[in-house]
Amino acid sequence: MLPSHAELSAPNGLKIKVPTGIFINNEFRPAKKGGELESFYPATGELLCKVAKGTAEDVEDAVQAARKAYKTVWGRKISASQRGAIMYKWAELIEKNIDELGTLEALDNGKPKWMATTMDLADAAGCFKYYAGLADKIEGRTMEHDDNMKFAFTRVEPIGVCGAIIPWNYPIGMLSWKLGPALAAGNTIVLKPAEQTPLSALRLAELAVEAGFPPGVINVVNGLGPDVGNAISHHMDIDKVAFTGSTITGRKVMEAAAKTNLKKVTLELGGKSPVVVFDDVDIEKAIPWVALAMLFNQGQDCTAGSRLFIQKGIYAKFLAKLVEAFKQHGVGDPFSDDTFQGPQITKQQQEKILAYIESGKQQGAKVEVGGEPWPGAKGQFANGYWVAPTIFSGCKKGMKIFDEEIFGPVLAVASFETEEEVIEMANDTMYGLGAGIFSENGSRCMRMVSAIEAGTVWVNNYALLSNAVPFGGMKQSGFGRELGIEALKEYTQLKSVHWNVNETLE
Ligand code: NAD
Repeated sequence: MLPSHAELSAPNGLKIKVPTGIFINNEFRPAKKGGELESFYPATGELLCKVAKGTAEDVEDAVQAARKAYKTVWGRKISASQRGAIMYKWAELIEKNIDELGTLEALDNGKPKWMATTMDLADAAGCFKYYAGLADKIEGRTMEHDDNMKFAFTRVEPIGVCGAIIPWNYPIGMLSWKLGPALAAGNTIVLKPAEQTPLSALRLAELAVEAGFPPGVINVVNGLGPDVGNAISHHMDIDKVAFTGSTITGRKVMEAAAKTNLKKVTLELGGKSPVVVFDDVDIEKAIPWVALAMLFNQGQDCTAGSRLFIQKGIYAKFLAKLVEAFKQHGVGDPFSDDTFQGPQITKQQQEKILAYIESGKQQGAKVEVGGEPWPGAKGQFANGYWVAPTIFSGCKKGMKIFDEEIFGPVLAVASFETEEEVIEMANDTMYGLGAGIFSENGSRCMRMVSAIEAGTVWVNNYALLSNAVPFGGMKQSGFGRELGIEALKEYTQLKSVHWNVNETLE
């Protein structure tokens, strides 16, 4: 049997105790069928610890707990400002424990610890605070108010029990984007963390108890997608499911909802986002953004700017400088403050990315830099899952590296001549998540913003996000919006009321 907590010793000297169970009704317990999941440190491939591996039976218990909490202690049984106060406390506990949580995230995911702390964790705390503040500002409208007849108004009500299925690339970020608006609106939660990265969600659940969430409001069931994720998306008593992950799995989630209780679905899926650089750009300013667009989070980002279009006039110069930036990009120890890129999440992902690199070579693209496992992977890191920052030039439609989401640090570059041409090329994809435009010409930027089919367009920057700004996809990158006031709409439903004052039926 698993110990209730695993004790981890991090390379930065921190000793961390992480709960290992399934979290239901504010308590951790073993999986009903007794299964176990292994969690690895991607930088070295070493086993970190084991956690409980839940199944549909555990999902069943979690849903019952969440339903009971929704009816008795959360939803409309607690004032909105009290909900906000508990969420705010949770955010403060994240801030108080940020070093430990950032360390945990670096261990479980492999991302640089300083980034996990200053971005993932700090943003998650900010996200909970943002929605804590919005909890008591969810309002309906009054539409008719005739003195002698009737009045009509809307109530904005929670949906009920919400399932959240999240990926491994931003274990805490994706958790906060879903739980923030869902909890503020009064819903209760059954969360499935990614099987590769369950640890930070479990520690956060512990902090949720400390923050004062009543039992059953937040439930966490670790496990595999085809077991736990599948059980959530098929469950007849889950009212909504929010999913982030691959487009293939997103389809399954939607299909399950359609086949069962027509639960509401929001999907945040993949991308192959275009970055367009015009020849009037300020090259020095653009290079770091374009590099970051591709390499941020080891390239494991649904908005990764992985198709780069450079206008002919500056093609050679821009590409040469970008190659230099990729060479200078600090790959290495997730616990070093000089590291910008850690390992990929798993051996399987590393192999998948290397296979894409191989296909790029086979299909005639030219490796400008990288194109191999990271050559610095030696000593303690020899068995980690590393890929060198890679640029392919001469890419075109029909090449797998140009058409498909790789989810690793592999950039496909093409050139273009005219604005019209690049609009066609940029939009020629089933995805529509993000896009970057780099130009000093404001009118051109605005024309591009209008023409590009993507849920988010970054102009002369990339990957900047704000809790106040909605995020989501067009086309097959999904639907629904996370963040901003808009996300509350995804976790609420409207009730319209017609109230008779003095109208007689004759
Ligand atoms: P995935 O879509 O399979 O996993 C995402 C989440 O869905 C995980 O929690 C997983 O357990 C769960 N899941 C898996 N099968 C399920 C099912 N049948 N029903 C319900 N939930 C299920 O993604 P992955 O296997 O981790 O990665 C594969 C590829 O997906 C990656 O290479 C990448 O291209 C893409 N991906 C995209 C994102 C994103 O943010 N858009 C995140 C992770 C992975």
